[in-house]
Amino acid sequence: MKKVVKEMLERFPNGEPPFQVDVKAALEHFVGKENIYYTELPPAVGGFLIFINDTPNVVINKLHGKNRRHWSEAHELAEYLLHRDKLHSSLYFHLRDIDTKEEHKVNKLAGEMLMPAPIIVRAVSEFKKLGISEAREAFLEHLCKRFVVSKEALLIRMEELHITL
Ligand SMILES: [Zn+2]
Repeated sequence: MKKVVKEMLERFPNGEPPFQVDVKAALEHFVGKENIYYTELPPAVGGFLIFINDTPNVVINKLHGKNRRHWSEAHELAEYLLHRDKLHSSLYFHLRDIDTKEEHKVNKLAGEMLMPAPIIVRAVSEFKKLGISEAREAFLEHLCKRFVVSKEALLIRMEELHITL
């Protein structure tokens, strides 16, 4: 597990025992609750991070469902953690749909915080031991609910970890 993920998991654990980073709590800690806004944004935009006079502000699209909002919170937290030193420009802000190498890194960290490798690996290996592959879809749905992520996000994460069901 990446050092930053381990650190975040220790400082902002979600669940007992912890199974993911409480990204909202972490975001509130770093950015400040008063600087996080839930507002209406264009459908393609999940959220963004903007520095105004050196103060980070996070804006999340409130029109999206809870999985997508959760992902946006994780994404903006990752954005902050990876880029906070570079971003102290009042003009900087970041839109989700700009596809760059940096953006890929941000999404990877977001996925790691929401679905830490050891947790996913263990859950899948326990499921496989049950020998009920016909319950695959139900199991995936269960994981999505538990982590509050979309199936798409879960499948991408599993692919990254080279996990097959
Ligand atoms: Zn971004």
